[in-house]
Amino acid sequence: MQVLRQSQLFQRCSRYGNYVALDSNCLFCKIITGDIPAQIIYRNENVVAFNDIDPQAPTHVLIVPTLHVENAAGLAKISPTLTADLFVAAGEIAATHGLTGYRTVFNTGAEAGQSVFHAHLHLLGGRGLAWPPG
Ligand code: AMP
Ligand code: ZN
Repeated sequence: MQVLRQSQLFQRCSRYGNYVALDSNCLFCKIITGDIPAQIIYRNENVVAFNDIDPQAPTHVLIVPTLHVENAAGLAKISPTLTADLFVAAGEIAATHGLTGYRTVFNTGAEAGQSVFHAHLHLLGGRGLAWPPG
């Protein structure tokens, strides 16, 4: 599959029916645009990261792509590089927080606990994390 950068994706949006650049009804799109406030700790052209409003660990950051797509698999289909950008951001944020171990999680679907349908990578750390997860 051809790998596209985000700027190319926007230009070539009509090739893909299952996402839009940003969705004005989406909570995380509104955080990306600044219409809803959040504690943003990291931002570049492709990625925005902010503290989770209901943290489940001392570090609990949500890392989101700056385009609206419902879940991780959809994002990976559109752009493997943008998917990878989320993990690169996770590593950089973890280092900034002094984390030597951390967990990254995508919830997909309501059954798995997904409540916001804009793909987002949870970064959790700063305490012991049990396995298997609940
Ligand atoms: P998920 O349940 O995987 O879809 O994750 C959604 C996450 O978004 C949850 O952990 C919520 O606590 C978090 N969340 C909801 N609203 C906000 C908000 N306004 N700012 C930051 N995080 C939020
Ligand atoms: Zn969105």
